Order: sequence, then structure tokens, then C-alpha cells
Amino acid sequence: MAHRRRVVVPTRAPDPGASAGSGRHPGFGPLLAPLMSGLGPTTPPVARGVAIVGAGQLARMLASSAVQMGVPVRCLAGRADDPAASIGEVVVGPEDAAASLQSLVRGAEVLTFEHEWAPLDALEQHIGDAIEIRPSIACMRSIADKAVQRGRLAALGLPQPIHGVCEDEAELRALLRDANDRVVIKRRRGGYDGYGVALPGTVDEAIAAWERFGRGAALVEAWVPFVRELSVLVVRAPDGHMRCYDVCESINANGRCEFVVAPARVDPGVAAHAREIACAAVEAFGGIGVFAVEMFETADGALLVNELAPRVHNTGHWTIEGAHTSQFENHIRAVLGWPLGDTDMCSPAVAMANVLGSRSGDASGLDLAAALHEPRVAVHLYGKRELRPGRKLGHVTAWGRDFDDVLARSRRAMENLRA
Ligand code: ADP
Repeated sequence: MAHRRRVVVPTRAPDPGASAGSGRHPGFGPLLAPLMSGLGPTTPPVARGVAIVGAGQLARMLASSAVQMGVPVRCLAGRADDPAASIGEVVVGPEDAAASLQSLVRGAEVLTFEHEWAPLDALEQHIGDAIEIRPSIACMRSIADKAVQRGRLAALGLPQPIHGVCEDEAELRALLRDANDRVVIKRRRGGYDGYGVALPGTVDEAIAAWERFGRGAALVEAWVPFVRELSVLVVRAPDGHMRCYDVCESINANGRCEFVVAPARVDPGVAAHAREIACAAVEAFGGIGVFAVEMFETADGALLVNELAPRVHNTGHWTIEGAHTSQFENHIRAVLGWPLGDTDMCSPAVAMANVLGSRSGDASGLDLAAALHEPRVAVHLYGKRELRPGRKLGHVTAWGRDFDDVLARSRRAMENLRA
């Protein structure tokens, strides 16, 4: 389906008489022609539209799923050429500015998020309850701060590493003793993909990282000697109905996720337990939409929750080809209050390989044709023009017989692409 790109640069706050939720506005009227092209000019919109805070690759894949179902999407972008801009309409502006937020939601039915560090105070102030916000601001707030999130998980009695926020060095040293001197120090807010996480090797390094992260602004937790990192994607509807994807396993190198394989190589009992924990956590946080619950599995099969992400997630990209309904479509369905799609796998095994930048510069030089030689492989590129070492440029998914087969083919396609 061909789409024309439409970019809106807000210059003033929109007419309050046209505010979302009033029941009088026409929806994303001007957008429908480009977005519905191919369906005929008289095709009515099936929903007024979804507004997304953020316009990176997750918003781009959400927008693709929405547009496929005939739902217009508008994203709030930092730049006019952010990845989602080639799929839906974008508003370019600061995320905490009244004008951009109000332009974002004008005519939309629901607002949702691509990332967890959205400006929640500004949303409350400038949008309030003029539009459905899913997940809710309260839910987003309880997850955005890793220490608050851990407090909620503790109140639920869900298994997690020992942890704490240390205001002074005596508290830190006490926690270090409880953790046998092996801790992980994390920024409470704003970390992603391992940026904002320190894995100190000694007590002195731990103290230095804790100082660097701002003492009380850091979460300190015991280092877990895990054998596998697992992730469970859960989608929850506004009426509380939930569906859960198969447990998947992420394989990391140098602190970055390189591959995600589903189903994870765990005992059926461990998989069932992981899904129970994930559903319990999402329900307790009152989540609506897709959530990722990341966990550590230890050698004895015990599970400890690492963290929740209140959004579609890199560990769920395999669901596009590997499950009957992708995480992206299910998120759109959930936030619009539509029936959730089947989350079962449609292939015995699926592997997703992240395509990460290996240098700085422009993104020319990716060899798409070489990657596409591999059978039963799908290549997703996010349209990023600038390369940076470690920057996610796309991903490759392979589906097939078993774990080793799909892992090998996704690796080959990813390496051929980067050649
Ligand atoms: P981010 O939110 O930046 O993704 P995470 O909390 O997921 O940060 O941590 C990044 C990585 O650091 C994890 O995937 C895991 O490999 C490692 N890690 C995090 N916490 C622990 C822990 N308590 N014990 C051992 N490794 C950890």
C-alpha cells in the first residue's frame, strides 16, 4: 500500500472546540485520503485514529499494523525523518510542549506510547482526560522509575533480586554485604538497552558507579547468576482480558541483545511459571496494551523478574512472522478496545536477530539482496539514515524447524546484510 508522508509542525495550540473526546470533531479527516488509499474515497474510517508518543522503530511497526487495519496513526517525533514518519502522520516538536501534545491528540481516539520516559506531568497538564490514555499515566508512572517498579513487584510478592535505593555509603555497603559484593547499579530513570546499567567487578567500582549515577537516583540490586534471560509478552485489554505469547529467550553479547529465540529452551513447568508471573505483574500494574516482562532463569529453574516494559518490545519482534497476531497488531487492538488476536506461534521455532550499526556514518552499504537469499527469512529495516555503533537499524526474523536451525539462519541473514 502506498502512503504519502504528511508532516505537521505545530505553530499554535489547536482550537479547543475541536478537542479529542468532545464527540464533535471529525477525527483524522485530512489523513484518511493518503492512509486509506487503495480502499476507495468513500471508505469510512474504522476508528478515529491512534496517537503515539514517539516515532522510532516501535512506533513505525505499530503504525504499519494500524494502517493495515485501516486505522490512521499520528506520531510525535523529534525529527521529521524519524522512522515512523514514512508510515503515518507526524507532529514534530518537543514531547513536553502543550502545542505538540495537543496537535498529537487532535481527533484521535486513544493515545499510547512507544517508550516509557514520556513526559507524564506534561501529558496530565496539557491533555488531562480529554482522550483515553492507554496504558494509563498512573501505570506508566509506576514503571518509569525502576525503584518504584521494584516496590510494586515486592508488594505483589513476585520473585526478584534483592535491591534497594541507598542514600548514603553505609546503606550501600550493607546492601553489598547482603549481595556477596556482586551488584548491578542502574539509573532509576531513562536507561534503555543496557545504557544506564553498570556491572561493577569490585566494591570500589560499585561505589564509583553509585556516585556517578547520583546515589539516590540509582537502584542497586544483587547480581543474578542467571543461565538464561527470558521475556514474556502479554497483551491486556481494557476489560482485563489477557493473552500471553510463548516465552522467548534473549541471547546477549557485550550487554546488547543480539538474538531472541522462541520458544525458549526451558522446561514446560518453568515456561508455565514465567507466563503466570508475567500475567500477574501486568494485571497488578493495571496495564492495557502489550507489556514485556523480562526475567532471569537460574540454574535450578527459579525465575526472578528483571523488569517490565509498558510497551511493545524488541523481544517481541519475532511475533510479526512467528505468531498468529503480532505484538504490534495486538497493542493496537488492545488500546482501541477491540478483540485480542491469537498469540499462539505459527511455526515450531522463530529467531530474531538485531541488525546493529558497527560504525558511524551513513547507512548505505547494507546488502539487502544478500540477506534475502536466505529462505524463510524476513528483513525489517527501520529507515534510519545515520549509523552509530550499536544503533538498531533493523532486524531479521527466521522461522523453521528448531532452535539451532532458526538461530543459524537469522545469524547468516543478519551477517550477510551487514556485509
Ligand atoms: P535496560 O532497562 O537498560 O534494558 P536492564 O535492567 O534490562 O536494563 O539490564 C540490562 C542487562 O544487564 C540485562 O539484560 C542483563 O543482562 C544485565 N542485568 C541487569 N540486571 C541484572 C542483575 N540483577 N543481575 C545480573 N545481570 C543483570
